[in-house]
Amino acid sequence: MAEFDLIERIRQRAGAPRPDVVLGIGDDGALLRCAADAELVAVTDTLVEGVHFPVDTDPADIGWKALAVNLSDLAAMGATPAWTLLNLTAPAADTDFIDALMAGFHALAQVHQLALVGGDTCRGPLAVSVTALGFVPTGQALTRAGARVGDGVYVTGSLGDAAAALDALQSTADAAVVAPALLARLARPTPRLAAGQRLRGIAHAAIDVSDGLLADLGHVARASGVAIDIDAEALPLSVALRAIATVPAARDFALAGGDDYELAFTAPADAVLPALDCPVTRIGRVVAGSGVRALADGRTVIPARRAWEHFA
Ligand code: ADP
Ligand code: MG
Repeated sequence: MAEFDLIERIRQRAGAPRPDVVLGIGDDGALLRCAADAELVAVTDTLVEGVHFPVDTDPADIGWKALAVNLSDLAAMGATPAWTLLNLTAPAADTDFIDALMAGFHALAQVHQLALVGGDTCRGPLAVSVTALGFVPTGQALTRAGARVGDGVYVTGSLGDAAAALDALQSTADAAVVAPALLARLARPTPRLAAGQRLRGIAHAAIDVSDGLLADLGHVARASGVAIDIDAEALPLSVALRAIATVPAARDFALAGGDDYELAFTAPADAVLPALDCPVTRIGRVVAGSGVRALADGRTVIPARRAWEHFA
């Protein structure tokens, strides 16, 4: 199949039109209408085969996750997503592969009424790079920089499942033996978009947990000029994780595993949090100083694993 047939195939799977897309896929650029009283939030993230997902990952899961990791960044900014661009590098124009990839991408795009408005297609080692664009009301974006001494530190959902799944996959030849609930968290993370939007005006700082809680809260602490103490005993651990890991191992996955795509945020300790569509757990507090520590039984917990870092 030629490049243009491939693009046409993608275009047919671009989802329902949106009234703010003046011109979508097919020209040199997309024409998009921005609301007057909002700021545009732009994020982009790449998934590379063999780095971000194993060879032989279900292409539908790759499509879902490539979009999900971007929507998670928009969630952490408190944004409402609108448009996406998809840069696809693939070794061959394999229609079954493209159809499956787009089915996974579209399944998530459709939940949030996103329009795919452009991208690029080229041949090479498999990599999927997505750009997502969304909006926040002017001046209301959540950032990493607003945490204040005295704030509580909170996290949505549960932590460590995806890292535990990856760890299990790496130590078995048979994925069927890995708990499906853990695998699902690795393959199809849920971006916490509604939660991020509802936290506007309440959270002082926010970040999404992609590289590991300690590392990601480290960014918040640095950007805000504060320190963060985490109560390791309060970390939300799923039933599925607790079923396969000891408490110390589960805490390690939660503190340093990454790939969670939950939101971590700070808010005044006495704030009444809005009802969210997911659980929220208070896991620590913002204190004076610098750095992030996790404490259990009065002792600092040093995870045996390290946060994910390219070029480390
Ligand atoms: P150009 O050579 O001008 O960059 P392309 O031939 O790369 O144009 O793309 C033609 C149109 O198809 C553009 O609107 C582009 O945004 C869109 N497009 C190309 N690849 C993709 C893709 N993988 N996903 C979505 N849109 C794409
Ligand atoms: Mg062009």
